[in-house]
Amino acid sequence: MKFCSALGFSRAAWGRGWVALWLGVWMAAWSTGAAEAARFSRVVIDPGHGGHDNGGQFGYLYEKHLALDVSFRLQRYLEGKGIKSTLTRERDVFIPLEDRPSVANRIGKSIFVSVHFNWVSYGGPAGTETFYHNAEGQQLAAQIQGQVARGLGTPNRGVKFARFKVLRSCAMPSALVEGGFISTGNDRARVLDPRYRQRLAELIGDGILGFRRM
Ligand SMILES: [Zn+2]
Repeated sequence: MKFCSALGFSRAAWGRGWVALWLGVWMAAWSTGAAEAARFSRVVIDPGHGGHDNGGQFGYLYEKHLALDVSFRLQRYLEGKGIKSTLTRERDVFIPLEDRPSVANRIGKSIFVSVHFNWVSYGGPAGTETFYHNAEGQQLAAQIQGQVARGLGTPNRGVKFARFKVLRSCAMPSALVEGGFISTGNDRARVLDPRYRQRLAELIGDGILGFRRM
């Protein structure tokens, strides 16, 4: 009852159902708005590898170049949706793994999305997969992988837990997307096509938007 008088309601007014109802509606609207605002205000996009670290490689096709290209496309796409982002690298430089999450950890209310392509020395696996480490990262990874797998129509290798250093050191929701195998012929042909890379970037962006709406 102390609470009621603090808000300026008399006992009689409080007794009337409509006051309680009005207060309830107002508080529900307020808490929903607060939750939406709290989800994130900036996306830290992390193009994998760089500098002397080429990542996966097939001839002169380097993972580090593909990752940066898709990251730029993702940044442009998010910009068009009114979402701010920061890249951990904007050119072909080496950044130690531990420094990448630090960028995001310095920015309040951020999420971290690392962009990679797969490479294996055996067999011919194909498709995309997305990794996470923390619980919110699992939600983010599921949103991204869902969009990417549905949109591209290539094999869906799923959402997976991983102890990758870039994810482990993130205090915020974080995910790492593998956008296809440059070591596998079919995937490599797709990855070489700028239209595939644009679509991939947009689908990652749609996954991020989905996570924001959750
Ligand atoms: Zn990689």
